[in-house]
Amino acid sequence: DPRLQAISAAIRVVPHFPKPGIMFNDITTLLLRPKVFKDVVEIFVDRYRDMGISAVAGIEARGFIFGPSIALGIGAKFIPLRKPKKLPGEVISEAYVLEYGTDCLEMHVGAVHPGERVLVIDDLVATGGTLCAAIRLLERAGAEVVECACVVGLPKFKGRCRLNGKPVYVLVECR
Ligand code: IMP
Repeated sequence: DPRLQAISAAIRVVPHFPKPGIMFNDITTLLLRPKVFKDVVEIFVDRYRDMGISAVAGIEARGFIFGPSIALGIGAKFIPLRKPKKLPGEVISEAYVLEYGTDCLEMHVGAVHPGERVLVIDDLVATGGTLCAAIRLLERAGAEVVECACVVGLPKFKGRCRLNGKPVYVLVECR
C-alpha cells in the first residue's frame, strides 16, 4: 500500500523522551498532515467496515485521536477506555504492569453489551501490555474483541500478529 510510506514518514521520532534512552514515536506530526491523517482513518475503516463490529474502544489518550473517526466511519459506537478516576459513573478496572510500576484502564459499566463485537484502537503497541489490559476489560464485560489495531508497532508486531490469541493489526513499524 503506497500510503504506508507517507504515514511512516509523517511520524516524528523524538530521542530521549520521556526518559533518557527512549525513542518516542510522536504521531502529532502525522495529525498536522490532513491527507495522511485521513489515509490512516480510511485504511482502518476499509478494513473493519463489514466485520459486524458495533463498538470501537479507544485507549487513553492517543486512542481517542483515531478511534472516534474510525467508529463513525464504520457506523459503530465509541467507548473510551480511561486512566483511573476519570470516568464519573460506575466502572470496571483492569490493572497492568509497566516497565516501572503498574497502571490501570477503566470502562463504564454498561458501555458494552455481552456478545458485542469490538475493535480496540491505540496509537502504538510496544510490549502489548496495554492492549492486553483492554482485551481483558472488554472480555470481562462479555464482549468479543475482534482485533486490536495500532498505527505504529514494534517490529515484532508488524503486520498481523497475535496477542493472547487476539490478532493485532499494525500499519507501520517503529523507526
Ligand atoms: P505497551 O503497553 O508496552 O504496548 O505500550 C503501548 C502504550 O504506551 C500505548 O498506550 C502507547 O500510547 C504508549 N507508548 C509507548 N511508547 C510510545 C511511543 O514511542 N510513542 C507513543 N506512545 C507510546
